[in-house]
Amino acid sequence: MLIGCPREIKNREYRVGLTPESAKELVRHGHEVWVETGAGLGIGADDGQYREAGARIVDGSAPIFAECEMVVKVKEPQAAERAQLREGQILYTYLHLAPDPEQTAELVKSGVTAIAYETVTGPGGTLPLLKPMSQVAGRMSIQAGATALEKENGGRGVLLGGVPGVMPGVVIVIGGGVVGFNAAQMAVGLGADVTVLDNNPDTLEKLGIHFESRAKTRFSNQANIASAICAADLVIGAVLVPGAAAPKLVTRDMLQCMKPGAVLVDVAIDQGGCFETSHPTTHDNPTFVVDGIVHYCVANMPGAVARTSTYALNNVTLPRALKIADLGWKEAMRLDPHLAEGLNVHAGRVTYPAVAQELGYDL
Ligand code: NAD
Repeated sequence: MLIGCPREIKNREYRVGLTPESAKELVRHGHEVWVETGAGLGIGADDGQYREAGARIVDGSAPIFAECEMVVKVKEPQAAERAQLREGQILYTYLHLAPDPEQTAELVKSGVTAIAYETVTGPGGTLPLLKPMSQVAGRMSIQAGATALEKENGGRGVLLGGVPGVMPGVVIVIGGGVVGFNAAQMAVGLGADVTVLDNNPDTLEKLGIHFESRAKTRFSNQANIASAICAADLVIGAVLVPGAAAPKLVTRDMLQCMKPGAVLVDVAIDQGGCFETSHPTTHDNPTFVVDGIVHYCVANMPGAVARTSTYALNNVTLPRALKIADLGWKEAMRLDPHLAEGLNVHAGRVTYPAVAQELGYDL
């Protein structure tokens, strides 16, 4: 199969659909790979590395959209890219169509076969192509929080690990799923005093078994959240209620008991945020202060660590890209029903029930 990887053109997107190593693997399977010049620069991979991997470097994205049978990307196609998509071509990328009627209409019109990373499933209803970004964001949340706690950044001047003779910082993680688990791991690793709250007893049990005495667990209800945050230096918001906006678990009133200069990192901001006082921020201006409490609410945290994020993403996207390229998308999906869940648009129709229902398309 002829596979193309254009440079990402969405504002401030540094990730890339294929690493040189992934390109090499596709070539090893007998496929031809075209990569747009400069596509890997955001992750520190130059054209030479892709050439060495056996890929052909092309100028601009036009040849890729015109010739390639499958286009591998990271972000949803932008308007200029959508205009170049063709009938019969496979588009393999994050799409997030439900809140995006304009993109959906243009994909339908193009006739493209669009496979969305975010709806590919795994055993037990998991979303394996979203998981690595939650792992990245969870781990980053502690780094971001530690930086915001520095005096110069408006924080209360606390080092999370403490030092011999001085107590460590207190970290409260609300939501013990993928983000929360990874946040707790980082905070425990730094030597902080860590408590994770979740409202799922099974999740609390798993966390308890994993962390033993290195992190505490607590059932999540309003009283327990209120008392936990009063003692906190850093609070991580990591809840998710699938298919719904994040519940506002910390109200503005509840901030009054917090220590001035304490930090809230609202990772769940991409679902509206779990602190009442949150609003989305960007990497150029990530924090703001409400009632003396520093808020960090960046909606695309993994973008800041584009290299790690790209490699983490490729670890889960490449095996499926190989299946699609080796077998063709129809056979690959027939053999792998989890991959079939990724099909969102095909031959002028929306094929994913939740998107069709949300945007009023017939299946
Ligand atoms: P997940 O499903 O793995 O975990 C969510 C956890 O929240 C679950 O354990 C669930 O039991 C718990 N929960 C639900 N309601 C709760 C409540 N009232 N109190 C306490 N816990 C509760 O989800 P995840 O992958 O960890 O993602 C968490 C959030 O982070 C999502 O909104 C996701 O979109 C977001 N996210 C943001 C970024 C970013 O850059 N800002 C990046 C990746 C993920």
